Parts: sequence; structure tokens; C-alpha cells
Amino acid sequence: MSRIYSSILSVFVLGAFAFFAAPAPAQDGNIPEKETVTIEKTLPNGGTVVVKKVGQEAAYATITIDGKSQEIDAFEPLSQVPEAARAAVEEAWNELGEIPKKTIKVDIDVSDAPDATEWAERARSRVLYWYPKVVAMLDGEEAVDKIPDDFTIKLIFKDMDGVAYAAGREITVSTRHIKRNPKDFGLVVHETTHVAQAYPGVRETWAMEGATDYIRYYVTEARSNNHWAINPRTSKYTDSYGVTASFYDWIVRTLDPDFMKKLHRVFRIRGSVELFFVEEYGKSCQELWDEYVASLTKETR
Ligand SMILES: [Zn+2]
Repeated sequence: MSRIYSSILSVFVLGAFAFFAAPAPAQDGNIPEKETVTIEKTLPNGGTVVVKKVGQEAAYATITIDGKSQEIDAFEPLSQVPEAARAAVEEAWNELGEIPKKTIKVDIDVSDAPDATEWAERARSRVLYWYPKVVAMLDGEEAVDKIPDDFTIKLIFKDMDGVAYAAGREITVSTRHIKRNPKDFGLVVHETTHVAQAYPGVRETWAMEGATDYIRYYVTEARSNNHWAINPRTSKYTDSYGVTASFYDWIVRTLDPDFMKKLHRVFRIRGSVELFFVEEYGKSCQELWDEYVASLTKETR
């Protein structure tokens, strides 16, 4: 029995409260696991470094020294890696292409919220790491070379309602939200993706937020092999965010690995996503969504 079975089952049990606020760690048996590349290195002091890269992007190192292990994500600065393992980790990142070839600048404004300084620094390392990668994912590697040398993203922290928003190259984060959710660095990836999208105005917002959350949950948090739990009876492809993202994940894995790049071009020219599906795949969004849902529920009948 695949793990998606239990997620779907729990949705049914929840009945009227069928919306999940967070992705469930489950994997549909019909969808191939993301490819994982592993590099192992032995340190002169007898410790080990094991670096794993899941899918296209998410990479992390497990460093074991004197029997104690710790994990470090590739987006953390090398200064966070214990000195004895630093050279080995850097070598592994290079072998995996994890050292960004283009650096950008990230300014932090915590003038309204000095308490947020530490969180802001951790957010900053994620923006520095992910921005060029998201540009490569959406526009191709050539576009990364064209990022101007002085390209700057500003992170502003404010005491406000809501979570966060991006406007141009500015990302504003609610300090109330991060106080309640100190581990929610995924919001930083979501907003960084909006900066890279730079759309001139969007006709189908659900489709855009689905793309943004696809990059968050299925690329940058791929190592947990997230799978957003949907309710086959009530979820719709227009539900946006994680639900739409899970639909895109299925399309990428089973139909078209270049789907995200193509979708990105539709948004850039203010095209219609509904029309794009019919022209590109010969099926409407609804028809493909129905196929996706059928693939999820097959094993539960
Ligand atoms: Zn958004």
C-alpha cells in the first residue's frame, strides 16, 4: 500500500475539513522517485561527509565527526560547516555544481524589527543561493549569466498581518508570522521565485501561485519527497498554491519535463494557461487534472 493511500484516507476522514494546510510526506506509487546523487568523502580525522542531491536542486551534507552527525543544506554559507569538513564539503558542492556561478546582492532592512536580524540573515543566505537557481530553472542557464552584477534583492521585515509579499525586487516579510512560524523559510523561496518570475501582470493567479509553490515544495524542499495531499472529490486544479503545485509535479514527472519553462513563457507574454494546455498537450486543464486525480485514487478503490 503506497503512502498516498493513507493521506487520501485521512482527507476522507476529515470530511468537511478536507483542506490540508501542509504537504504530507507521501509518494504516489505511479510517480517515479526523484533521482538522488550521493557523494561520500572520508576526512583526514576519520570523520565522513555524505552529500546528497535530490532531484534537480535540493542538496545537503551529512557531516559526521567523532560519532556526532549534523546536516547542512547547500544554501548555508560554508562558514557554517565545521572547519575540519569545510574543504571536503566545498569539493562536493563543486562536483554537484552547487556553488552559484553568479552572485547577487541581498540587502536587509530590519529597522522596524531589530529582533528579526538573525532570521533575516538565514533568509538572506537562501535568497543568495536560490535566486540564480530559480532563474536557471525558469529561463535557462544563459539567463543566469545575464543577471546584472549589481542585481539586488531587498528583504524588508515589518510588524504586519499576513505572511509576506514580493513587489519588484523587494520582499516584505511579516515579523508576526515568523515569530509564530520560525521554521518557515519556505516563504523566502516562494517570494524569491516571484522576483525571478517578474511577470508583467497575470491573468490566472491560481496558475502562477501553483508554479511558485511547485518550486518551493517540489524543487527546493524536494529532499523530503513532499507530496501535497489532495481530496480527489473536492480539490480543483484552480485551488492554487500546493494543490496546483502537486498537479504540476505530476505533469513534470509523467508528461513533460519542460513544463515549468513552457508555463513560465506563457506568463511572460501574459498568455492564457487554459489555452496553453489545449495547444501544447491537446487536453484542457480539467481533462489533465481528472487524469491526475484518477492516477492518485487508482490504488484506493
Ligand atoms: Zn505568492
